[in-house]
Amino acid sequence: MEKDEAGKIGALRAREGRVHSMETMGTVDGPGTRLVVFCQGCPMRCAYCHNPDSWDPAAGSVTTAGEVLDLFERNRPFYRRGGITLSGGEPMLQPDFAAAVFALAHAAPAGRIHTCLDTSGIAFSAASPERHAALLDKCDLVLLDVKHAFDEGHRELTGKAAGNPRALGDELARRGTPVVVRHVVVPGITDDPEELAALGRLIARWDNVVGLDLLPYHTMGVGKYRALGLDYPLEGVSAQEKGAIPGLRRQVLEARAAARSDRG
Ligand code: SF4
Repeated sequence: MEKDEAGKIGALRAREGRVHSMETMGTVDGPGTRLVVFCQGCPMRCAYCHNPDSWDPAAGSVTTAGEVLDLFERNRPFYRRGGITLSGGEPMLQPDFAAAVFALAHAAPAGRIHTCLDTSGIAFSAASPERHAALLDKCDLVLLDVKHAFDEGHRELTGKAAGNPRALGDELARRGTPVVVRHVVVPGITDDPEELAALGRLIARWDNVVGLDLLPYHTMGVGKYRALGLDYPLEGVSAQEKGAIPGLRRQVLEARAAARSDRG
Protein backbone atom coordinates (compact mmCIF):
# COMPACT_ATOMS: atom_id res chain seq x y z
CA MET A 1 0.00 0.00 0.00
CA GLU A 2 1.29 3.48 -0.88
CA LYS A 3 2.33 5.63 2.08
CA ASP A 4 -0.32 8.26 1.28
CA GLU A 5 -3.03 5.63 1.01
CA ALA A 6 -2.00 4.07 4.33
CA GLY A 7 -2.13 7.51 5.93
CA LYS A 8 -5.64 8.11 4.59
CA ILE A 9 -6.88 4.75 5.85
CA GLY A 10 -5.29 5.43 9.23
CA ALA A 11 -7.08 8.80 9.47
CA LEU A 12 -10.41 7.19 8.54
CA ARG A 13 -9.93 4.43 11.11
CA ALA A 14 -9.28 7.00 13.84
CA ARG A 15 -12.53 8.95 13.28
CA GLU A 16 -14.67 8.81 16.36
CA GLY A 17 -18.41 8.60 16.74
CA ARG A 18 -20.84 8.12 19.57
CA VAL A 19 -22.53 4.76 19.40
CA HIS A 20 -25.57 3.59 21.34
CA SER A 21 -25.02 -0.13 20.69
CA MET A 22 -24.10 -2.62 17.99
CA GLU A 23 -25.90 -5.73 16.85
CA THR A 24 -23.55 -8.27 15.28
CA MET A 25 -26.20 -10.48 13.64
CA GLY A 26 -28.88 -8.04 12.45
CA THR A 27 -31.37 -9.44 9.94
CA VAL A 28 -33.99 -6.68 9.62
CA ASP A 29 -31.98 -3.57 8.67
CA GLY A 30 -30.84 -4.23 5.12
CA PRO A 31 -30.14 -7.32 3.01
CA GLY A 32 -28.60 -10.47 4.51
CA THR A 33 -27.03 -10.75 7.93
CA ARG A 34 -25.43 -7.48 8.97
CA LEU A 35 -23.43 -5.64 11.55
CA VAL A 36 -25.85 -2.91 12.64
CA VAL A 37 -24.39 0.14 14.36
CA PHE A 38 -26.96 2.17 16.28
CA CYS A 39 -25.54 5.68 16.38
CA GLN A 40 -26.24 7.87 19.39
CA GLY A 41 -28.28 11.07 19.17
CA CYS A 42 -31.55 12.03 17.49
CA PRO A 43 -33.27 15.43 17.26
CA MET A 44 -36.68 13.88 16.52
CA ARG A 45 -39.15 12.85 19.19
CA CYS A 46 -41.31 10.31 17.36
CA ALA A 47 -44.30 9.48 19.52
CA TYR A 48 -43.67 5.77 18.93
CA CYS A 49 -39.88 5.82 19.38
CA HIS A 50 -38.85 2.68 21.23
CA ASN A 51 -35.31 3.91 21.86
CA PRO A 52 -35.59 7.16 23.84
CA ASP A 53 -32.22 6.30 25.37
CA SER A 54 -30.68 7.00 21.93
CA TRP A 55 -31.82 10.67 21.83
CA ASP A 56 -29.05 12.38 23.84
CA PRO A 57 -26.15 13.07 21.43
CA ALA A 58 -23.69 13.30 24.33
CA ALA A 59 -24.46 9.80 25.64
CA GLY A 60 -23.37 6.45 24.19
CA SER A 61 -19.81 5.15 23.87
CA VAL A 62 -17.05 6.76 21.86
CA THR A 63 -16.11 4.28 19.12
CA THR A 64 -13.72 4.63 16.19
CA ALA A 65 -14.59 3.72 12.62
CA GLY A 66 -11.67 1.28 12.76
CA GLU A 67 -13.24 -0.55 15.71
CA VAL A 68 -16.47 -0.99 13.75
CA LEU A 69 -14.57 -2.47 10.81
CA ASP A 70 -12.53 -4.77 13.08
CA LEU A 71 -15.74 -6.12 14.59
CA PHE A 72 -17.10 -6.80 11.10
CA GLU A 73 -13.89 -8.55 10.07
CA ARG A 74 -13.97 -10.83 13.14
CA ASN A 75 -17.35 -12.15 11.96
CA ARG A 76 -16.88 -11.74 8.18
CA PRO A 77 -17.79 -15.36 7.29
CA PHE A 78 -21.31 -14.76 8.69
CA TYR A 79 -21.90 -11.67 6.57
CA ARG A 80 -21.43 -13.15 3.08
CA ARG A 81 -24.64 -11.68 1.67
CA GLY A 82 -24.89 -8.88 4.24
CA GLY A 83 -22.78 -5.90 5.20
CA ILE A 84 -22.76 -2.93 7.56
CA THR A 85 -25.82 -0.83 8.40
CA LEU A 86 -25.64 2.50 10.20
CA SER A 87 -28.84 3.12 12.07
CA GLY A 88 -29.82 5.06 15.14
CA GLY A 89 -30.69 7.30 16.79
CA GLU A 90 -29.87 9.25 13.65
CA PRO A 91 -26.60 8.29 11.89
CA MET A 92 -26.56 11.42 9.68
CA LEU A 93 -25.95 13.54 12.80
CA GLN A 94 -22.37 12.23 12.71
CA PRO A 95 -21.51 12.52 9.01
CA ASP A 96 -17.71 12.29 9.38
CA PHE A 97 -17.84 9.11 11.44
CA ALA A 98 -20.50 7.56 9.21
CA ALA A 99 -18.59 8.47 6.03
CA ALA A 100 -15.40 6.96 7.50
CA VAL A 101 -17.13 3.65 8.35
CA PHE A 102 -18.55 3.37 4.84
CA ALA A 103 -15.32 4.46 3.11
CA LEU A 104 -13.43 1.79 5.05
CA ALA A 105 -16.13 -0.76 4.21
CA HIS A 106 -15.75 -0.10 0.48
CA ALA A 107 -11.94 -0.21 0.72
CA ALA A 108 -11.75 -3.32 2.96
CA PRO A 109 -8.66 -5.37 1.97
CA ALA A 110 -10.58 -8.66 2.39
CA GLY A 111 -13.29 -7.48 -0.04
CA ARG A 112 -15.74 -4.62 -0.48
CA ILE A 113 -18.48 -4.55 2.17
CA HIS A 114 -22.05 -3.58 1.28
CA THR A 115 -23.18 -0.40 3.06
CA CYS A 116 -26.67 0.59 4.13
CA LEU A 117 -27.85 3.78 5.83
CA ASP A 118 -31.02 3.66 7.92
CA THR A 119 -32.15 7.27 8.36
CA SER A 120 -35.09 9.60 8.81
CA GLY A 121 -33.23 12.28 6.84
CA ILE A 122 -33.81 14.91 9.52
CA ALA A 123 -30.14 15.92 9.71
CA PHE A 124 -29.85 16.56 5.96
CA SER A 125 -30.22 20.08 4.64
CA ALA A 126 -30.72 21.11 1.02
CA ALA A 127 -28.87 24.33 1.94
CA SER A 128 -25.67 22.43 2.79
CA PRO A 129 -25.69 19.10 0.94
CA GLU A 130 -21.88 19.02 0.98
CA ARG A 131 -22.01 18.16 4.70
CA HIS A 132 -23.27 14.69 3.80
CA ALA A 133 -21.77 14.25 0.32
CA ALA A 134 -18.91 11.95 1.38
CA LEU A 135 -21.33 9.74 3.28
CA LEU A 136 -23.94 9.57 0.50
CA ASP A 137 -21.17 8.83 -2.04
CA LYS A 138 -20.54 5.58 -0.15
CA CYS A 139 -24.11 4.38 0.42
CA ASP A 140 -25.10 1.25 -1.50
CA LEU A 141 -28.63 1.36 -0.10
CA VAL A 142 -30.67 3.78 2.00
CA LEU A 143 -33.58 2.78 4.22
CA LEU A 144 -35.50 6.06 4.27
CA ASP A 145 -37.96 6.26 7.11
CA VAL A 146 -40.89 8.39 5.97
CA LYS A 147 -42.57 9.21 9.26
CA HIS A 148 -45.64 10.96 7.90
CA ALA A 149 -46.69 12.01 4.40
CA PHE A 150 -48.09 15.42 5.47
CA ASP A 151 -45.98 18.18 6.97
CA GLU A 152 -48.46 18.92 9.73
CA GLY A 153 -48.74 15.25 10.65
CA HIS A 154 -44.95 15.01 10.57
CA ARG A 155 -44.64 17.84 13.08
CA GLU A 156 -47.25 16.33 15.36
CA LEU A 157 -45.74 12.87 15.23
CA THR A 158 -42.03 13.77 15.45
CA GLY A 159 -41.78 17.36 16.68
CA LYS A 160 -40.02 18.39 13.42
CA ALA A 161 -41.02 19.63 9.97
CA ALA A 162 -40.81 17.26 7.00
CA GLY A 163 -38.60 19.55 4.86
CA ASN A 164 -35.22 17.94 5.56
CA PRO A 165 -36.45 14.35 5.12
CA ARG A 166 -38.07 15.31 1.79
CA ALA A 167 -34.88 17.08 0.69
CA LEU A 168 -32.90 13.92 1.41
CA GLY A 169 -35.40 11.88 -0.62
CA ASP A 170 -34.95 14.30 -3.53
CA GLU A 171 -31.16 14.22 -3.23
CA LEU A 172 -31.08 10.41 -3.25
CA ALA A 173 -33.33 10.41 -6.32
CA ARG A 174 -30.98 12.88 -8.02
CA ARG A 175 -28.07 10.59 -7.21
CA GLY A 176 -29.94 7.43 -8.21
CA THR A 177 -29.11 5.77 -4.88
CA PRO A 178 -31.35 2.73 -4.29
CA VAL A 179 -33.87 3.50 -1.55
CA VAL A 180 -36.23 1.32 0.44
CA VAL A 181 -38.95 3.51 1.94
CA ARG A 182 -40.08 2.55 5.42
CA HIS A 183 -43.24 3.73 7.13
CA VAL A 184 -44.37 2.78 10.61
CA VAL A 185 -48.12 2.22 10.62
CA VAL A 186 -49.73 3.49 13.83
CA PRO A 187 -53.47 2.87 14.20
CA GLY A 188 -55.36 6.17 13.96
CA ILE A 189 -52.21 8.19 13.15
CA THR A 190 -50.46 6.90 10.02
CA ASP A 191 -52.91 4.37 8.64
CA ASP A 192 -55.77 6.41 7.20
CA PRO A 193 -56.44 6.22 3.45
CA GLU A 194 -55.51 9.88 2.83
CA GLU A 195 -52.16 9.48 4.54
CA LEU A 196 -51.40 6.26 2.64
CA ALA A 197 -52.41 7.83 -0.69
CA ALA A 198 -50.20 10.85 0.05
CA LEU A 199 -47.32 8.50 0.81
CA GLY A 200 -47.90 6.80 -2.54
CA ARG A 201 -47.83 10.17 -4.34
CA LEU A 202 -44.68 11.18 -2.49
CA ILE A 203 -42.71 8.10 -3.44
CA ALA A 204 -44.04 8.27 -7.02
CA ARG A 205 -41.72 11.22 -7.60
CA TRP A 206 -38.61 9.18 -6.64
CA ASP A 207 -37.59 6.78 -9.46
CA ASN A 208 -34.89 5.23 -7.29
CA VAL A 209 -37.32 3.63 -4.79
CA VAL A 210 -36.70 -0.13 -4.96
CA GLY A 211 -38.85 -1.24 -2.03
CA LEU A 212 -41.56 -0.27 0.42
CA ASP A 213 -41.78 -1.67 3.95
CA LEU A 214 -44.80 -0.87 6.07
CA LEU A 215 -43.82 -1.66 9.65
CA PRO A 216 -46.56 -2.39 12.17
CA TYR A 217 -46.39 -0.19 15.27
CA HIS A 218 -45.66 -2.18 18.43
CA THR A 219 -45.70 -1.27 22.09
CA MET A 220 -42.40 -2.82 23.13
CA GLY A 221 -40.88 0.56 23.94
CA VAL A 222 -43.28 1.33 26.78
CA GLY A 223 -41.06 -0.26 29.46
CA LYS A 224 -38.09 1.93 28.47
CA TYR A 225 -40.14 5.11 28.95
CA ARG A 226 -41.14 3.95 32.41
CA ALA A 227 -37.53 3.11 33.26
CA LEU A 228 -36.44 6.60 32.12
CA GLY A 229 -39.29 8.25 34.03
CA LEU A 230 -40.87 9.58 30.79
CA ASP A 231 -44.55 9.66 29.89
CA TYR A 232 -45.37 7.38 26.96
CA PRO A 233 -46.93 9.59 24.24
CA LEU A 234 -49.03 6.82 22.67
CA GLU A 235 -50.50 5.52 25.91
CA GLY A 236 -53.70 3.64 25.03
CA VAL A 237 -52.91 3.21 21.31
CA SER A 238 -52.90 -0.48 20.53
CA ALA A 239 -50.31 -2.27 18.42
CA GLN A 240 -50.95 -2.45 14.67
CA GLU A 241 -52.47 -5.72 13.57
CA LYS A 242 -49.93 -7.40 11.30
CA GLY A 243 -52.62 -8.98 9.12
CA ALA A 244 -53.75 -5.53 7.91
CA ILE A 245 -50.32 -4.59 6.55
CA PRO A 246 -50.55 -6.14 3.04
CA GLY A 247 -53.85 -4.31 2.36
CA LEU A 248 -52.43 -0.99 3.60
CA ARG A 249 -49.31 -1.50 1.51
CA ARG A 250 -51.49 -2.11 -1.54
CA GLN A 251 -53.20 1.26 -0.96
CA VAL A 252 -49.83 3.02 -1.05
CA LEU A 253 -48.73 1.21 -4.19
CA GLU A 254 -52.01 1.91 -5.99
CA ALA A 255 -51.71 5.63 -5.23
CA ARG A 256 -48.11 5.51 -6.42
CA ALA A 257 -49.08 3.80 -9.68
CA ALA A 258 -51.91 6.32 -10.27
CA ALA A 259 -49.56 9.27 -9.67
CA ARG A 260 -46.98 7.82 -12.04
CA SER A 261 -49.52 7.21 -14.77
CA ASP A 262 -50.83 10.81 -14.37
CA ARG A 263 -47.24 11.96 -14.75
CA GLY A 264 -47.11 10.03 -18.04
S1 SF4 B 1 -36.09 9.02 14.34
FE1 SF4 B 1 -35.87 7.00 15.28
S2 SF4 B 1 -34.55 7.32 17.08
FE2 SF4 B 1 -35.30 9.32 16.43
S3 SF4 B 1 -37.09 9.69 17.70
FE3 SF4 B 1 -37.79 8.79 15.75
S4 SF4 B 1 -37.90 6.58 16.09
FE4 SF4 B 1 -36.65 7.49 17.77
